[in-house]
Amino acid sequence: LMTRHYNFCAGPAALPTKVLERAREEMLDYHGRGLSVMEMSHRSPEYTAIATQAEQDLRELLAVPGNYRVLFSQGGASMQFAMLPYNLLGAGGTPNFLNTGIWSKKAIAEARHLFGAHVAGASEANGLTEVPRQEEIRLSDDAAYLHYTANETIGGLEFDYIPETSVPVACDMSSSILSGPLDVSRFGVIYAGAQKNIGPAGLVVVIVRDDLLDRARPDTPTMFNYRSAAEQGSMVNTPATYSWYLAGLVFDWLKHDIGGLEAMGAINTRKAAKLYAAIDASELYSNPIAPRNRSRMNVPFVLADERLNQSFLEEADAAGLLNLKGHRSVGGMRASLYNAVPEEGVDALIAFMADFEKRRG
Ligand code: PMP
Repeated sequence: LMTRHYNFCAGPAALPTKVLERAREEMLDYHGRGLSVMEMSHRSPEYTAIATQAEQDLRELLAVPGNYRVLFSQGGASMQFAMLPYNLLGAGGTPNFLNTGIWSKKAIAEARHLFGAHVAGASEANGLTEVPRQEEIRLSDDAAYLHYTANETIGGLEFDYIPETSVPVACDMSSSILSGPLDVSRFGVIYAGAQKNIGPAGLVVVIVRDDLLDRARPDTPTMFNYRSAAEQGSMVNTPATYSWYLAGLVFDWLKHDIGGLEAMGAINTRKAAKLYAAIDASELYSNPIAPRNRSRMNVPFVLADERLNQSFLEEADAAGLLNLKGHRSVGGMRASLYNAVPEEGVDALIAFMADFEKRRG
């Protein structure tokens, strides 16, 4: 019998066991068609049904308004750092950004490299522990749109509000999409790499408001163009068919096994609250983020004595608690608590941390 450990990886991240079991069941012979989803033409009726159902379920989960298009794109969230400016700068202007950490910095660097960028608010003065407040945002006079990173996966810093501006808001939701209910109508563009809360790597979901499909620069490469993707059902070329199918299974799991995003959000809030409470109550562990901006998905923490890091990680791994090492750029630990990490996994982590502290603290 196989044992599934608790996987706290930041991405590619844990997938629901039920989803993997269903993929296994359907692997060799999809619904009696005698072939696997991986081997299907993306134009076949079977695959078209899979793709359409996935989009429908995602729309239903997020209550996506009718005037938004849902695209199943590729190239990682990082490719959106370039696609966004190409698609939104047709009428000129400068992309504006909130800089809250490593991922927003990467988006800024790519926009600057291509067409320019203005930083309209930043968290550097507070050591990336708090996001800029609404009243601190200063758009440039020629702002074309405002980009921000809803959840900084490495820093564990999450927005507690949606910025309100005179220009369209574009948001990198890679590590927080589907973690709870969302008001899509507040955004011009939402994008998210799949490998955290959506499915396997190789897929990026883009949700874009209809009226923004007319703003692409004339030199936009065909494969970058949101309008082309929207008009051709995200099949300008061969899409990431298997990742799209698996994302569909995850959406189905969220709908039917979890009961939607309200229910998912409540579970996620509980999971994060108990882990932060355990960290705050301990002498050994600490997290520096301002309480209002503590991420529900990625919980970084450090040990008061760094010399204990290696044994912490080794003992955690031996206890079936995987991938707790922090990002190489910041060190320490990080527990990612995405949707597929069950509450019992968080309980097991908290119990392990308390026991480790008692033995070493
Ligand atoms: N943005 C955020 C917030 C991320 O967490 C990541 C990946 N960890 C990326 C962008 C980059 O994603 P990708 O590797 O899919 O390009």
